[in-house]
Amino acid sequence: MTTPRNHLSQFSRRSFLQDAAAVLALAAAQPLAAQGDDFDLIVSGGTVIDPYNALNKVVDVGIKAGKITQVAGGLKPGAGTRVLDAQGLYVSPGWIDLHTHVFAAGDSAEAVHPDRDAGVYTGVTTIADPGGFRSDEFDAFRRDVIDKSVTRVLGFTNVAAHRQKPGEPMQGEWSVFDQELTINTIAKNKDVLMGVKVLSSNRHAGNLALTPTKLAVQAARETGTHVMAHIGMAPPLIQEVLNQLGPGDIVTHCFKGFPMGIFHSDGRPVPEAWKALEHGVRFDLGHGAGSFAWIAARNALKHNFPLHSLSTDIHRGSIKGPVWSYGRTMAKLLHLGFTVPEMVKVSTLGPAELIDRGRELGSLSAGTVADLTLFRVVDQKTTLTDSLRNSETGDRDVQPVHCIRAGKVISEMKIPAAT
Ligand SMILES: [Zn+2]
Repeated sequence: MTTPRNHLSQFSRRSFLQDAAAVLALAAAQPLAAQGDDFDLIVSGGTVIDPYNALNKVVDVGIKAGKITQVAGGLKPGAGTRVLDAQGLYVSPGWIDLHTHVFAAGDSAEAVHPDRDAGVYTGVTTIADPGGFRSDEFDAFRRDVIDKSVTRVLGFTNVAAHRQKPGEPMQGEWSVFDQELTINTIAKNKDVLMGVKVLSSNRHAGNLALTPTKLAVQAARETGTHVMAHIGMAPPLIQEVLNQLGPGDIVTHCFKGFPMGIFHSDGRPVPEAWKALEHGVRFDLGHGAGSFAWIAARNALKHNFPLHSLSTDIHRGSIKGPVWSYGRTMAKLLHLGFTVPEMVKVSTLGPAELIDRGRELGSLSAGTVADLTLFRVVDQKTTLTDSLRNSETGDRDVQPVHCIRAGKVISEMKIPAAT
């Protein structure tokens, strides 16, 4: 709506008076409290960490109609503005977990609840399910998970277009593939499909070894999307898998221990990992029940090998430990020596950039969706266990307090007990 003031410079006084009368009439027709409010919600007085905008200070975040409108100190609430007190809390773009298992169908008995276990009730505003569904199950995934969740749910379709026979490797038979269906499914659903998931390991590829990885690369290139490659026990060799990947592809489970991961037994990253990194391949944590080893994480830090994104690989087999939650996984990074802003970056902007949505989902820029996480870093002895069941005692935990999804505040956070 144009305001009388805008009109004053352009139109006659008569026109101004007519407009003013129209504004008054409109005001009378609307609830009084909403009039003149610049914000529906102000997140007030938190330490805002927004790596995209190089921000790390105490400011307010103003939100209107589900979008961020202003980030500045001293924002003034109107009569109808809700003020959410964030003093003593960190405020970041909403956490993003690109590796969760939330599609409960077929043999996906490992799925957890998208909102309660992986999403907004754990402080995470965007999740992706990589490969829990096949292309021939995508419609069910959209209907039953994406459309029914408060959390934004995205996916990487499994390179296998069809589900395997019970007891057989997921990608071990020619009959499970249908490149035409896979490519068409991604092409038609790029609003929510970020690419193709391939499990580049002996257990999943069987005698087809590197073939599923090659098929995933083809489908991703044809659709302009990303491969997310799970790495594991050879064959195929990790070197062969890394050599297949290109710019924008993602290796998940990057802190797996030898002999399954990207490090030699002496701790050095394999040369192909450096080459892949230079080539634009990105590295995602994917903790899970078997894919996060303290020793591998420390190898990466020692050799300055980067982590681009934090993800949990949360499913029924990891949610009761060693993963527990996204926040508890963040605490592991603090324990390894990450600073709070570094930890926030790999939990927000990092994963958002991996799916080409850096500014849109990974920042608090004006005009972007109001997805935020308000959290505290608690000084508390916390048992932190890796996937090899090696426990270390951390002195901090990361706990979400409120989650804001498209401007809506959710405050009933599920925090795993201190162990
Ligand atoms: Zn997984």
